[in-house]
Amino acid sequence: MFRSMKLPLTLLISTAVAASVIVVYIVSLNAQQARVTSMQQEQMSALVQNVAARLEPAQGDRDIDGEVARKELALQLSHRQVTAAFVFDLRKNLITSSVKQNNLASDSFAVTLPAGIQMADGLMYAVANIGKEPYLTGKVVIVSDMNGLLAQSQKTLFFSVIPWLAGTIFLTVIVALLVSRRLLRPLQALIEFTRDIARDKDYSKRFSDKHNHEVARLGTSINSFLDTIEVELIINKEQNDTLVEQQQTMMRLANYDSLTGLPNRQFVVDNLRLELARVRRTKDDLALVFFDLDGFKGINDSLGHETGDLILIEVADRVVNMLREGDLIARLGGDEFIIVPDRDVSDASLKNLADKLVGAFTEPFMLRGLALTVGVSVGIARASDAEYELSQLMSNADLAMYRSKAKGRGTYTLFTIDMVESYKRKMSIANSIDGAIRQDEFLVYYQPKISQQGEIIGLEALIRWQHPEFGLVMPSEFIPIAEQGGKISAITQWMIERVCMELPDLQMLISRKFKVAINLSGHDLRHTGLFDDIYGLFERYQVNPEYFEFEVTESAYLENFAFADKFFKRLSNLGCAISLDDFGTGYSSLSYLTQITIDTLKVDRQFIRELDTSERSRLVTGTIIDLAKRLALTVCAEGIEHPGQWAYLIEHGCDHVQGYLFSKPVPLSKLLTIDQNYLHLLNAPDAAQG
Ligand code: C2E
Ligand code: CA
Ligand code: CA
Repeated sequence: MFRSMKLPLTLLISTAVAASVIVVYIVSLNAQQARVTSMQQEQMSALVQNVAARLEPAQGDRDIDGEVARKELALQLSHRQVTAAFVFDLRKNLITSSVKQNNLASDSFAVTLPAGIQMADGLMYAVANIGKEPYLTGKVVIVSDMNGLLAQSQKTLFFSVIPWLAGTIFLTVIVALLVSRRLLRPLQALIEFTRDIARDKDYSKRFSDKHNHEVARLGTSINSFLDTIEVELIINKEQNDTLVEQQQTMMRLANYDSLTGLPNRQFVVDNLRLELARVRRTKDDLALVFFDLDGFKGINDSLGHETGDLILIEVADRVVNMLREGDLIARLGGDEFIIVPDRDVSDASLKNLADKLVGAFTEPFMLRGLALTVGVSVGIARASDAEYELSQLMSNADLAMYRSKAKGRGTYTLFTIDMVESYKRKMSIANSIDGAIRQDEFLVYYQPKISQQGEIIGLEALIRWQHPEFGLVMPSEFIPIAEQGGKISAITQWMIERVCMELPDLQMLISRKFKVAINLSGHDLRHTGLFDDIYGLFERYQVNPEYFEFEVTESAYLENFAFADKFFKRLSNLGCAISLDDFGTGYSSLSYLTQITIDTLKVDRQFIRELDTSERSRLVTGTIIDLAKRLALTVCAEGIEHPGQWAYLIEHGCDHVQGYLFSKPVPLSKLLTIDQNYLHLLNAPDAAQG
């Protein structure tokens, strides 16, 4: 009810004082009334004696003079509180009376009273005999109203006492307030002290009060209570710190990749689930950027896992540095990473991010004295295209990333719905490869390779698939699918066998010595029985291995270096030739060139295409030719479409060329119609311009 003890204390003290004051007042009132009564008695007694004396008849007269008595009585009425006066003769007959209006006394009662003062019904009767014994002539009675008199005096007392009473109570309240304040001050300090502690949670404070009253002792108890709390808190904090530390370690292990320090798959998946739910609710969107490193496996295999790890750390570092605050990056595992860009998922912003990401890989990684170029393939997908389903979103981003891989290094792809269609086609292709081999749906096309003298010195065997549903399917589409599905060695096997079978026809067509080049995939180089299979086919079809050449990309070679090198050495020993396909696009570290077993460098089509337009491509081409010469390797350029390109290549000493200028890849049947010498093409109009 009361927020402070001050008020009730003050009330208590004031009430006590007021009560005593009232008691004093009542006692003094009684005393005053007793005094007034006795004074009145004295006065009335004197008054009645005087009146009786004056009414005494003159000497010898026996009776009271009625007229004198009447006057005398009337006079008495003017006295204080006198309300009536009576005069009786000896025979108790009323001689005269005088009464005021408010008189309550009766003469019949008055006449019975003896001399003296009598009290009855609040009236004072003063009675005196007239005359002296034995000559009494009558008696006089004067009545005064004691009630009125007492009331009057009570009133007077009350009004004289009131200011004192009020003053006393006021003073009492003030004093009580001051006293209670003073008394409560230590208690107040203690209350504030505990309130501070509760607010600041600082349990090191102590309450100090040098007195020895209850509050000080209470303070001491609180202090020892605080001592206990403090000790408990320290123990608690230590336990808590250990727990927090353990929890953090567990969190780190569960959510972070120990190599790069980036969040891991677990973390990003948890995070994405929440974010997807949020953007679905707010009708926003969210994007995923997948990327993985091209040729990373090659580095791991050829230079060791430690170098691979260093590259991953460096990759994480580069990418983290190009991201904006709020973008999330995580390592999914192996050489796969994911970025979840913060908010802005507009095409422009995503393209900008992808450009920066690809750009971060243009500089080679400088590790252990080597400059290693690592490419990156990027796939981007939006939550809205995946109906905000996490697994769908991841699969879309993956799809887009594989698109980039198919396009070549250093590219990014934004997922579009039609990719799902093409994905379905891809799945359908993947599922029908086995049947295609059984039903002989594959075909071999040949594309001639031409010497500087314009003669056919070789053929590249290129596979085609006459698909019952999709028509002619190109190897660039189904070879990667076959690689992923582990079907490539069966295809390679089919291809080599078919070439072995057709070799006699080819020998009839081309009168001079030539080689048929077969493309091998990186996946072939993980298949340990490959050499025996090839050797078995050569044996079975009784073909001379010297008619065979094997083309392999530098990345396929290096990614499987240990196996590949042994394998190609054995083929080389049989008399087969080995070419490094698509040269110039992969590893820029050339040091490995002296360590691998090859005969030919095939300059990638991309440089030939850009010969007219790009100084850089001219430079690369020139350098490759130069390099090949120094290493005593043959150089073959592919993708020659204009005589000018050929002229340029001849001028720079390129040994062999291949391209649509001479012939597109054609089936055996069409080879019959192609030229035996192409030198005339050099004199075509375009060639003159160079
Ligand atoms: P590749 O080994 O670089 O083969 C050269 C590709 O360039 C062929 O494409 C060929 O048709 C094309 N080409 C040749 N000259 C020109 C030209 O002047 N202009 C243009 N625009 N293109 C030209 P194709 O036949 O579609 O083969 C694509 C790729 O598929 C090949 O690239 C090779 O990597 C792979 N491939 C083809 N056949 C086989 C095979 O039997 N086994 C394996 N593992 N891969 C194969
Ligand atoms: Ca090739
Ligand atoms: Ca090539």
